[in-house]
This record gives sequence, structure tokens and C-alpha cells, in this order.
Amino acid sequence: MPPRKDYYEILGVSRDATQEEIKKAYKKLAKKWHPDLNPENKKEAEEKFKEITEAYQVLSDPEKRAQYDRFGYVGEQPFNYNTTGNGGSIFQDLFGDFEDIFDMFFGRRPGTSATREKVSRAGEDIHHFVSIELEDVLTGKEVPLEYDRRIYCTSCNGTGAENGTSFRTCHRCGGTGVIREEQRTFFGSFVNTYTCPTCGGNGRVVDKKCKVCSGTGYINEKRKVKLKIPPGIEDGARLRITGGGHAGVNGGPNGDLYVTVKIKPHPIFKRKGDDIYSEVNVHFLQAILGSTIEIPTLEGPLKLKIKPGTQPDTLIRLREKGLPNMKTGKRGDLYVKVKLEIPARVSRKERELLKNLAEISGINVEE
Ligand SMILES: [Zn+2]
Ligand SMILES: [Zn+2]
Repeated sequence: MPPRKDYYEILGVSRDATQEEIKKAYKKLAKKWHPDLNPENKKEAEEKFKEITEAYQVLSDPEKRAQYDRFGYVGEQPFNYNTTGNGGSIFQDLFGDFEDIFDMFFGRRPGTSATREKVSRAGEDIHHFVSIELEDVLTGKEVPLEYDRRIYCTSCNGTGAENGTSFRTCHRCGGTGVIREEQRTFFGSFVNTYTCPTCGGNGRVVDKKCKVCSGTGYINEKRKVKLKIPPGIEDGARLRITGGGHAGVNGGPNGDLYVTVKIKPHPIFKRKGDDIYSEVNVHFLQAILGSTIEIPTLEGPLKLKIKPGTQPDTLIRLREKGLPNMKTGKRGDLYVKVKLEIPARVSRKERELLKNLAEISGINVEE
């Protein structure tokens, strides 16, 4: 016959305590005696924790409690912690009700994603805009950009400790920042990995904080970069500068810098892919008789031949006067639309000549 244990006394509740009261009492004691929270007297805490868990397991189960009240013990042994038994599911049942205990011990709830606990991770990305002219798309451009970002403190090497030396390796996690706990003793095959609560995952405990960064390990940097914008870039394209973002966490890599390129609207040219479009006014006499006029292009003025008899809205194509293709480098075309210019007023002399012309052409111009 196993030695009798007073489970009521262990939990500090009366014999007619309700389930709520038992739960509350256990919760309180579990927090007090969890071995993790008693590193100095871990052995004693383990024993105590075992004991209160045993008491709770019996008293929280109405059937077992009734048996215990009657016989003073439950089963052949008061309690079975063995992994092969029902320890695992008991653990689940128990702690399913006590998520806040987990929050307290581990800073998280059981079953939450391990990614949150990664000790080192990449820094945040930074996003910026730059505006360029359409002409810049032809040639490409180097654009200076100044922005703020967080970098590791240079004074303490990101340790947060004065001179970068005033710290110790965390004794609890051995500097890894992670605690891997095999809780076989209590809960069978249960293995838990979590961020070390003592050092917050740094693996270090700081004695004296760095004055430059107030112990954060980070400082702000005004960073200047020269952004190389390639020829042929599309409006709204995003450039990525790897490692241009904020510093990582615990030695994780920097985030990236993303720069969105905006192309300002052009007063003359409209872009369609690699081609550009413009319009040019041509005097009706030039259209009839033919002429050579000057038109604007991205590279400056260019002579354009207007053939005799050119019709209104004719689209003249100038090969490879457009924008370079970003992949092939081959330039698109420039399309010039001919708009006919009719003078709003003519001189007396012009009027006479035009009337003559109309008469010869057999066109009625009587008002
Ligand atoms: Zn630690
Ligand atoms: Zn510092």
C-alpha cells in the first residue's frame, strides 16, 4: 500500500473545495514551483511541482477524487508520470486549461509557430520613391538617395553593452538564446523549444548598457546611396538594393531597400512600351506642297521631311528614335502625328491669291 498523501493539504484547499478552487490553487502553485522559475533549487522545485501536479490530477478528476476520498489513494500507485502511460494526454488536458501559464513561462502559447522564436532574423525592408524624366529612361540615370535606417550600434558592436564588452554569456541558455527543454520527467515525450526568457534570445546578459544606443544595440544612420536606374525602365518599376534595409535581429541579415521609380509625365511625348508618340503642327501649305520641318525628339530637334500631299493625322514613323528595351537594348520608334494648321486670319493679299486658287480649282468659296 502506497504511503498516504494529503492532496488537499498539498494544494492548500479544503476537503469540500470546488473544481474552480482546486484549479485556482494549482495554478498558483504551479507558477510558484515550476522548475524553470527556480533555477537555484531546481531539484526541490521539481519534486514540489511533481507533487502538486499529482494532487491536482487526482482532485480535478471527479472519479479519482471520489476514490481518493474513500480509500486515501488512487490505483496501485498514487500517480503515474511515465511517458508510456497517459501522461501526455493528461498534460494536454491540464495545460489546455492553463494557456496563461505557458504565456508566463515561455512567452507564448503551446503549439504556436516556431518562427516567432527564431533567435536571429532579417531586418525590416525600407521603401522609397524616386522621380525621373522620360529623357532619363533613354540614357539611364544615377540618382542620389538619402534615407534613414537602423544599423547595429558601432560603439558596442550591436551588443547593447558598454564598449561592446560589458556583458556575460547567458548562463541559462549557454549563449544560444534558445532553451530546449526535454520535459520527460513530467510530461513524457514532450520537448519544448523557446526563446530564453533571461536574455530574450540574445544569448547575452548586459552588465552595463552602452550609452550611445541606450542598450538597444541599434543606432540610426543617414545613408546616402547612388541609385543606378537602368535605361528603358518602366514607370512604377521597383529596384531592390539587397541589404539596404534595417539591420537584422541578433546578427540576422539586413533587410532590403526597395525603390519605386516614377516617371514624370512629359509635355510632348507619350510612352507606349518602347515607342513614344508626339504630334506636330504643319501648315496646310506645307502639307500640300511638301516641306522639311524641325521636330523635337528625346535627343533634341530633328529635321523631318513632310511629303507633298500629306494628309491630316498622318502618322510618321521614325525608326529607333524611341526608348531602349530594358532586356534587348534595342530602341523603339517615335511616331509623329501630323496636325494641319489652318491660319485663322489671312491678309488681303493672301485672300486674293487663295480666291484665285479656288477659282482655278473649281471650288465654290462664295460666302
Ligand atoms: Zn539566455
Ligand atoms: Zn551601443
